[in-house]
Amino acid sequence: MIYLYQNSREYDYDVRAIALAFFEREKIIEVSEDIPDRQLAAAGPGKAGPDDRPLFLKLDFGDQRIEGQLTDLTGKKSRKSIECDYRDHAHCRNAVSRFLYHIFSDFTGRKLPWGMLTGIRPTKIVMKWLEEGMEPRGIIERFSETYLADRQKAALCCRVALKEKEILESHPFEREYSLYIGIPFCPTTCLYCSFASFPLSRFGDRMDPYLDALEKELRFTAGVYREKALTTIYVGGGTPTALSEHGLTRLMDIIHQNFPVSSLKEFTVEAGRPDSVNSEKLKILHEAGVGRISINPQTMHQTTLDLIGRDHTVDQVRQAFALARETGFDNINMDMITGLPGEDIDHVRETLSQLSGLGPESLTVHSLAIKRAAHLNIEMERYQSMVKGTSNDMLRLADEVCSRMGMEPYYMYRQKNIPGNLENIGYSLPGKECLYNILIMEEKQDIISCGAGASTKYVYPEENRIERTENVKNIDHYIQRIDEMIDRKKRYMEMV
Ligand code: SF4
Repeated sequence: MIYLYQNSREYDYDVRAIALAFFEREKIIEVSEDIPDRQLAAAGPGKAGPDDRPLFLKLDFGDQRIEGQLTDLTGKKSRKSIECDYRDHAHCRNAVSRFLYHIFSDFTGRKLPWGMLTGIRPTKIVMKWLEEGMEPRGIIERFSETYLADRQKAALCCRVALKEKEILESHPFEREYSLYIGIPFCPTTCLYCSFASFPLSRFGDRMDPYLDALEKELRFTAGVYREKALTTIYVGGGTPTALSEHGLTRLMDIIHQNFPVSSLKEFTVEAGRPDSVNSEKLKILHEAGVGRISINPQTMHQTTLDLIGRDHTVDQVRQAFALARETGFDNINMDMITGLPGEDIDHVRETLSQLSGLGPESLTVHSLAIKRAAHLNIEMERYQSMVKGTSNDMLRLADEVCSRMGMEPYYMYRQKNIPGNLENIGYSLPGKECLYNILIMEEKQDIISCGAGASTKYVYPEENRIERTENVKNIDHYIQRIDEMIDRKKRYMEMV
């Protein structure tokens, strides 16, 4: 537990972001007045803090000076102050984050691999510097100095941004748009899931009404964007292949009737759960022009798969992969997660070794994120002792294995609530990178998203502005309120 007392909430977001970067699963309780230590003692030991004791963070924003102090009940203390010119808000935010980073770092004796950087898209920073003409060596220096990040992370970020730049410069993507389609059904719900996902056993009868609503939203989108070129289609979820053969055929027909599939640069469908894949479904996708699919084992350990509720076997992963190859897919991605409950670096090594034996064209390495709505978080008491999180060594190992497979990192993002505060990285063989992933990270074009829980992004590059509309996540609400979802889009699409 972290008790926070601050006399201004101007930098509340940054204060919390840094505090949670050091203590990922802590609760922050804001108190309205400075609590003396004895009162904290009366509150009793919290469930958090480096040594299971509550922490107290006091921030005093003065006229030109900020004072900060972090203490615990043993009297351990970290205290700092800085001069701050509040007129330059952006500069001041950075200064506050840096100052807080030092307070937490001194207190814990830890340095974070990404330093004080808590944003989701670190490559956007590097991309901007590259576009301004900076050289990679200078960028690495500046990145690690500005954000107090490891040079290794700065170099990785630079490598990814250079790759993205090379791909983005090959085409005028900003004049086009991409389409995301969400299919929110899954065979079962994974322990860590926070997506729009509804298990087939309870929601399977919604497939047809869902596709009716989705068709309406897709037709509307196709109508408004008919003059604009479409770069990529990405069908995700959920698990799109959880649709029945009939449902999948219908979805592919809807897409073909409304969008120019033959001129797409990329058409991806997630076939994430191996227990949702069969040869007929793969054939439907292949014949519909899908060029890239994703089969996601997450781990190649049966005990973990059982624990995280995936309800499929390791063998089914191999079979689904072999079926996809037989069907003719030559661009298969696999997703894995590091830091799953009960797993350490040896488990990660084994999963990497088995996946490298299969030989996918790309491998996406996720660090386990514990989202508020996920069962893993709700039932954390049960899993606490098993969740050790991702370590930097695990990610280094993944990097080594991917490099031996001839892959390079081509996109990355960070999430809140990742124990270890690390990153997710997409690796790929040259030429097999997922363009959609890069476009969504770098926010260079509109990404129109249809389906339950889908989030649409409208990009206005001249104004350096991005607007978003969200669809409701609940499948029944989506079906019932489809006209309202379309109306939400209309306001922004009028300008197209
Ligand atoms: S397969 Fe993906 S979307 Fe479906 S329940 Fe698991 S994590 Fe959620």
